[in-house]
Amino acid sequence: MQIGTLCNSMQIGILCNSMQIGTLCNSIQIAIDCILIYSRYEKNRIYTYIGEVVVSVNPYKTVDIYNQTYVDHYKGREIYERPPHIFALADSAYKTMKRKSRDTCIVISGESGSGKTEASKIIMRYISAVTNVSGRKEVERVKDVLIKSNVILEAFGNAKTNRNDNSSRFGKYMDINFDFKGDPIGGHINNYLLEKLLSGSPDQKLEEMKLSRNPDEYHFIRQGGSPKCSTINDQSDYKAVMGAMKTLNFAFKHAETLWKIVAAVLHMGNMEYDTVDEVHDTVGVRDAHSLKNLAGLLSVGPEDLKKALTSRVIAAGGNIVNKEFTKSEAFYARDAFAKAIYDRMFSWIVTRINEVIDPKESGTGYIGKGTVIGVLDIYGFEIFENNSFEQLCINYCNEKLQQLFIELGIAWVHVEYFNNKIICDLIEQPHKGILAILDEACLNVGKVTDEMFLTAMTQKLKSDRFTCRALSPADKTLEHNRDFRIRHYAGDVSYSVVGFIDKNKDTLFQDLKRLLYNRYIHTTKRPLTAGTNFKNSIVALVDHLATKEPHYVRCVKPNDIKSPSNFDEVRVKHQVMYLGLLENVRVRRAGFVYRAKYSRFLDRYKLICKSTWPNFHGNQVDGVKLIIKSQGFEKDVAYGKSKIFIRSPQTLFSLEEARDKYI
Ligand code: ADP
Ligand code: MG
Repeated sequence: MQIGTLCNSMQIGILCNSMQIGTLCNSIQIAIDCILIYSRYEKNRIYTYIGEVVVSVNPYKTVDIYNQTYVDHYKGREIYERPPHIFALADSAYKTMKRKSRDTCIVISGESGSGKTEASKIIMRYISAVTNVSGRKEVERVKDVLIKSNVILEAFGNAKTNRNDNSSRFGKYMDINFDFKGDPIGGHINNYLLEKLLSGSPDQKLEEMKLSRNPDEYHFIRQGGSPKCSTINDQSDYKAVMGAMKTLNFAFKHAETLWKIVAAVLHMGNMEYDTVDEVHDTVGVRDAHSLKNLAGLLSVGPEDLKKALTSRVIAAGGNIVNKEFTKSEAFYARDAFAKAIYDRMFSWIVTRINEVIDPKESGTGYIGKGTVIGVLDIYGFEIFENNSFEQLCINYCNEKLQQLFIELGIAWVHVEYFNNKIICDLIEQPHKGILAILDEACLNVGKVTDEMFLTAMTQKLKSDRFTCRALSPADKTLEHNRDFRIRHYAGDVSYSVVGFIDKNKDTLFQDLKRLLYNRYIHTTKRPLTAGTNFKNSIVALVDHLATKEPHYVRCVKPNDIKSPSNFDEVRVKHQVMYLGLLENVRVRRAGFVYRAKYSRFLDRYKLICKSTWPNFHGNQVDGVKLIIKSQGFEKDVAYGKSKIFIRSPQTLFSLEEARDKYI
């Protein structure tokens, strides 16, 4: 409490923009939040409210807090009437949607492995549990289909060639549509994929895939027509996925094709190269047998495939020439291509699922989209030892979400916030922003290096949020001609430009793409760059979210060893710092965590005050004021036209405790 007061008085520091005091205050606030989170986690209370945000700590064990008793406990309640729980947040989103006919959304962010997907499933299950009280058959079917669609997505989202903790799918957004009764009638899914280099040894990949190393064992490949995939060890998982596919009406032959593609990606990952020319560092495919296998799976000729795997076509002095890959280029192209095939397959699955869960197909007879709850499961801010293009994209996305959070949350409170727009502009502005400069660099085929891109940024970007060694020579933490730094809302991040150009335009596997696309789609258009694609999808996402009333869940990973009893303070602090909670804390200090109509407040709390219990005949505001005064909370509340506003959750908890004594 004392620290809180200290911190509050130092808020003036922030407002005056006095960096030092502000920073000190921030770190105190982070420490307080961590203590709060820890003291609850220790007692198996994995949820904590920080401001309006639900912080969830991954328990890494089964906690029995999602059963029907809990559903009943939270159903229809106001958020602070019960101990912190993700059900309370889900209920709040649901109530707003149902009572006010407002679209709402729940933004769940955090590191990989922090519990985002689990949280979104818990939310879905809660919504499923509180809807369709009249037991309509079609609605039950819709719920089943929505839940099963997640089973499929997860199966394929996880059965990928790279390690799960380096997953390429960094975000998933799902709209659930409801009819006027508040029952689910369908949904829509968007997946956000990010081209990422594959990492991990082939053995690790195999383990992830739960497939055997011996290609002959993939008998569903050899035998072509056989639907059985006996090499998947986890039979029950496999059955669940096949069951889900059945529910979603995935044709048998589709399911089979999907497994084939998984196998192709796997084969591709195993492709090895031998140096054939030491001087020019060129390579050949080692194993003709697997090449043939792979070509068969992809329905392309083995010779064409071999060519595409070991060389690329480039324009040189007006001529089209074949340029052989170096060994490292060949590996890069192989991995990037495997990834691209997988992404295409994944997108196909999503499209197919969306057809099935389309509200029009629900059979409920409901016309239109009704109201919506959107659930976003997305990577939080990332700061690694080495940060590259992928981190820039993810962090840009988080800047956009944070900007939205601030715009939506506190339109009526005037506090100096970190202005996210400056950073968003720095990255996304047409012609002037980082992504535009990168695209321009990518247009000049073969000529522009990553270093030149860095120089171009140095010349063109005029922002104190961007720096590099050329601009601040004294900064030894930045490598000359390699690093640049951005001051994000969550802190400074240094990025290395190495690989930016290749990652943005995916040049090394253009030929492989062409090989496949010629078979399936005919296009001569220059494909959009990875960065521009990314930007477009994030802008669309943010526009979509902006029409909804947001709710936030921040997931925290307590340790890196998946232990149920290890709270790594340093790791948690790092996350609390980067989860955007600080901004939220400032909103909280300036704003109010709770508001309620006078009538409702009076009804609920009149029993804790002698002057209002059992009967009160004056006007409602006076009654509410009497209650607040009797508890000594005058300083923590404000009186609006029709509502009372309460600043801190502590006040609310105390009111609830007082009430508990009487009932
Ligand atoms: P993310 O989607 O953030 O990468 P997941 O939701 O897949 O993380 O969680 C990783 C693992 O952590 C889960 O497979 C599960 O074992 C465990 N876990 C996460 N949240 C919970 C929870 N609320 N209760 C129990 N276990 C959980
Ligand atoms: Mg996940």
